[in-house]
Amino acid sequence: MNIYDLTLKELEEKIIEMGEKKYKALQIYTWLYKKKVKSFDEMTDIKKEFIEKLKENFVIGTIKIEQVERDKDVNKYLFRLSDNEFIEAVLMRHDYGLSICVSSQIGCNMGCKFCESGRRKKVRNLTTGEVVEQILLVEEDLKERISHVVVMGIGEPFDNYENIIRFIRIINDPKGLEIGIRHITVSTCGLVIKIDSFAHDAEGANLAVSLHAPTNEVRNKIMPINKVYKVEEIISAIKKYIEKTNRRVTFEYIMLKDINDTDKCAEDLSKLLKGINCYVNLIPYNETANIEFKRSDMFQIMKFYDILKKNNINVTIRREFGSKISAACGQLRSKKEEA
Ligand code: SAH
Repeated sequence: MNIYDLTLKELEEKIIEMGEKKYKALQIYTWLYKKKVKSFDEMTDIKKEFIEKLKENFVIGTIKIEQVERDKDVNKYLFRLSDNEFIEAVLMRHDYGLSICVSSQIGCNMGCKFCESGRRKKVRNLTTGEVVEQILLVEEDLKERISHVVVMGIGEPFDNYENIIRFIRIINDPKGLEIGIRHITVSTCGLVIKIDSFAHDAEGANLAVSLHAPTNEVRNKIMPINKVYKVEEIISAIKKYIEKTNRRVTFEYIMLKDINDTDKCAEDLSKLLKGINCYVNLIPYNETANIEFKRSDMFQIMKFYDILKKNNINVTIRREFGSKISAACGQLRSKKEEA
């Protein structure tokens, strides 16, 4: 068992099962997440016999950095998993700190038409530990602390819900990586049944919804999941979520030329979001070789932005990172596997 799969509470239970005192779990946790050691032998305040028992029961980590593409304020990491699958994470340097975008699954079943990662069906969920390790390995590579986490890499986090909630507990725990809950964001394509539970399972964390269209007509063309959860169901789940949490929600909106970027779409979107405590993040589409969609031109993105503004919708245009270094969602993995 990968020791990074466990919350402190779960590790305590295991340690008790192994016939040892509960407080040893905290000692181990401190070695793992504060001193960041990679072997049990380095845990010098733990007795030899117990270290042997720990080695019989656990491994410390299962994934490895396979490749890094480095640029000024963005690094792209490709990881090799123990079953020789690959996943990606992207590290971004902001003025407020380092932020990492982690993957949640190998492949993805949501099938969004514009998305590179979605070209490959889900192979399996990532384990909790595999998500935690993405952060630990990048911190080790950079010798710097990561302050912000977004679950926006390959996969649909709400289709791997339990592991992602456990991941949030571990990285948020003051005894673990101690990343502030308000610095943690999960992005979903809109799995409505999980939006509800997220409000209490990850209190204080940020929720982003990949809306990408203001109407079912437009959304059906680009996101098959819309056949299951309609735009109005997402909106009513979000309203409930905001009522419960009092948190502002982000709607992501990829700008796809002539698909969802018309003036009419901007007006429809304004109507849809009127009065909701949210902001819209307009994302210039990252074109990929394998998919025919084109990025909207900057003029139209600005026009779309102005229409939302005029209608009093909070809106930003996402700063672009890493399109040069194939940091766009799943492209590094595709290159690796198609090479
Ligand atoms: N499944 C989750 C998280 C992973 S996708 C979700 O749907 O939110 C993370 C974000 O990247 C989503 O908003 C997704 O729509 C967007 N995205 C996917 N491909 C993209 C591309 N080529 N260019 C820009 N954004 C993209």
